[in-house]
Amino acid sequence: MNVQNYINGKFSPPVNDAWIDNYCPANGKIYGQIPNSSKDDIENAYIAAKSVFPLWSQTTIDERSKILIKISELLDANLQRFAEAESKDNGKPISLAKTVDIPRAASNFRFFGNAITQFASESHESVGHDAINYTLRQPIGIVGCISPWNLPLYLFTWKIAPAIAAGNCVVAKPSEITPVTAYLLGEICTEAGLPKGVLNIVHGLGNTTGQAIIEHPDIKAISFTGGTATGAHIAKVAAPMFKKLSLELGGKNPNIIFADCDYDDMLETTVRSSFANQGQICLCGSRIFVEAAIYEKFKTDFVEKVKKLKIGHPSKEDTNIGALVSKPHLEKVLQYINMAKKENGTILCGGNKVIVTDYEDGYYLEPTVIEVATDECRVNQEEIFGPVVTIMPFNTEDNVLQMANKVKYGLSATLWTNNLKRTMRMSHQLQAGIVWVNTWMLRDLRTPFGGVKASGVGREGGFEALRFFTEAKNVCIKY
Ligand code: NAD
Repeated sequence: MNVQNYINGKFSPPVNDAWIDNYCPANGKIYGQIPNSSKDDIENAYIAAKSVFPLWSQTTIDERSKILIKISELLDANLQRFAEAESKDNGKPISLAKTVDIPRAASNFRFFGNAITQFASESHESVGHDAINYTLRQPIGIVGCISPWNLPLYLFTWKIAPAIAAGNCVVAKPSEITPVTAYLLGEICTEAGLPKGVLNIVHGLGNTTGQAIIEHPDIKAISFTGGTATGAHIAKVAAPMFKKLSLELGGKNPNIIFADCDYDDMLETTVRSSFANQGQICLCGSRIFVEAAIYEKFKTDFVEKVKKLKIGHPSKEDTNIGALVSKPHLEKVLQYINMAKKENGTILCGGNKVIVTDYEDGYYLEPTVIEVATDECRVNQEEIFGPVVTIMPFNTEDNVLQMANKVKYGLSATLWTNNLKRTMRMSHQLQAGIVWVNTWMLRDLRTPFGGVKASGVGREGGFEALRFFTEAKNVCIKY
């Protein structure tokens, strides 16, 4: 499928007519082209956005809410088409695209369509001064949204929905590796009656198209999800222009298992938290720490279950593990597996490329479990972002807490225990923006989402996202 930019409500090729090949991860073949947009396209997108701002911010909340909810309904109605497109573009199992990615994209619009109707500001009476203060929450203006390839439409819409709900106009760029569902979203927005120019979707590489967004002096806020190195670069470019920034970055999340947990539930969920989406979710629990008393049992049971995961073409309903997103990414993950061997890690299962019949050039890899000799080795410290987890035992709460926090990242952590006091102690001390206890990736869109340390700056989700996409202005009136 060939992709075009969506600017001012219309599909158009890039001004410089430069294109990038789009590969299908399941078979390694080129199946379309996408624009590699330049500064000129970003300028056109900006002009389109500017032409409808502040008009869009002056529409009633009811009107904005209705359009967002209409977009969510249209996504629901097109679930199958979008799920097939997402699975083909990204390599993820169709079952995941159908039950997680696309429903969540629809929920993002529904949620923020409703949330904006409840987004209240504050007022304070200055008693003794005969004055009243009230706080306005004004949209920023034209904002930039940049998203990664792992949950393409899910994360793209996670930014766009609150931005437009709050009255901003948007210049957005999805990942060049997975552009298709963002392209299809343009059609849906037009059909839902979103005024032209409110959302402009520009495709292209990070260092050309993305760079033009972050360097644009009049794009006043950037919401970015992606790698930590890219986030640091964006922060550097944005700082002299005092842009507002929300950075959702990498992770290397601990999954801490105590002997007193509900074992079967933990085992089932740990397989999922390790390998869902081929381990390419920023929230995956890639470092598994198991209390020594159940370590050997866990090791045997976990490996047995992982070996049963079905690797196959993403379009097959019974596939558990699809293809990795790209050839360079597959190679990077394989390098980490080799590194593990050099670091005295033991590969308990997996570790090899998989040849799927009829799709020999697809980017398939066995789900891989590595028993590490020390928590300080690189495979245990660096984000691999593939179907690879490390496991090791621990003896005490202090010992595991120290290891869990001894990485540069701090996105999420998972804890398995039935001990309430330990739950509280650990949850409060884990360096992470999100802690799950006896579950994983249970998301309530009202809750704050984001990381600490190298996992990011700022919070999205619920009213946090609406706060990010607005400026608070206090008005003080003496009466
Ligand atoms: P990436 O940083 O390479 O790219 C992300 C986006 O940024 C892409 O659209 C890319 O084109 C763009 N980009 C790259 N260089 C840019 C530049 N100079 N200026 C502007 N934009 C630029 O990340 P990726 O490989 O697409 O995604 C994987 C990473 O994303 C992993 O590290 C993962 O942990 C992280 N991630 C984080 C979260 C979270 O919520 N914290 C969620 C999903 C993924």
